[in-house]
Amino acid sequence: MSTTQRVKDRFGRPVTNLRVSLTQGCNQSCLYCHREGQWEPADGEISGEEVVDLIEVAKTRGVEKVKFTGGEPLVRQDLERIIEAVSPGLRDVSLTTNGTMLADRARGLRAAGLDRVNVSLDSLDEDVYSAVTGGSVDDAVAGIQAAVEAGLYPVKVNVVALRGVNDDGDFEDMIEFARATDVILQLIELLDTGEAYFERYHHDLSGVEAGLERRAEKVVRREMHNRAKYFVDGAEVEVVRPVHNPEFCRSCTRLRVTSDGRFKPCLMRDDNLVEVGEDVGASFVEAVKRREPYYC
Ligand code: SAM
Repeated sequence: MSTTQRVKDRFGRPVTNLRVSLTQGCNQSCLYCHREGQWEPADGEISGEEVVDLIEVAKTRGVEKVKFTGGEPLVRQDLERIIEAVSPGLRDVSLTTNGTMLADRARGLRAAGLDRVNVSLDSLDEDVYSAVTGGSVDDAVAGIQAAVEAGLYPVKVNVVALRGVNDDGDFEDMIEFARATDVILQLIELLDTGEAYFERYHHDLSGVEAGLERRAEKVVRREMHNRAKYFVDGAEVEVVRPVHNPEFCRSCTRLRVTSDGRFKPCLMRDDNLVEVGEDVGASFVEAVKRREPYYC
């Protein structure tokens, strides 16, 4: 049996989370998508076996939590098999998805070992949702309901704040939806990936957060990224504000894997990726060494 050796970067930050992109393929076309920091089309896609091998090695280096992403991870038909293979020994296996293909697969994913899910839902308004994503809001809501029923707990609903698209009124509707559906609402600040959408849509969420702080019955801070969580009107609301936020980077414990199977130390950079060689553990350690806070 292998022993676990936790690896820390030069800034003393341990790596306990792996965020694995399984594909660049997606059934939606969100107008602000950061593509998990993979700006160029990848040359091929990581196989299920490669994903499993890589996660098994990461576990021996201290990774306890894995999140699958994309593209849209549900376009991968082998997702259940991957989760079934890697979930033993992990503290947390989760998925971020647009939810539109989740209704039929939520139970099977739970049975395979998926613990919880984040579903992107930028608006409850069909016209706004479809303008932002190209998809249908009813499909996403059906996915959220199926996830709750399947016991994927907690279900988090991710809302990227977009100035002039979804605003304070939408957030109020979302808080009510979160309370009624028993999901956690996560309001996310738009990241600046150097594309035109940032200037157009960025909403810094400071006013929204101050309002939540005033109304909250309770406020707690999460270890991961030092994120604040507000308990408001019977709902739980998290606010994720990474932009120009050194605190966020200081408490980051995440390493990424690209859809073509390379280690990626930071969402915001693509000049320090590590090819995975024969010795996956050595590649993992090299990637951890290359981690640097983006905002400091
Ligand atoms: N298709 C899946 C989904 O919708 O969750 C997974 C991929 S998506 C890139 C993962 C998460 O990143 C989603 O919650 C999405 O809202 C968020 N996201 C995408 N682009 C972003 C940006 N520019 N700023 C902040 N969050 C973003």
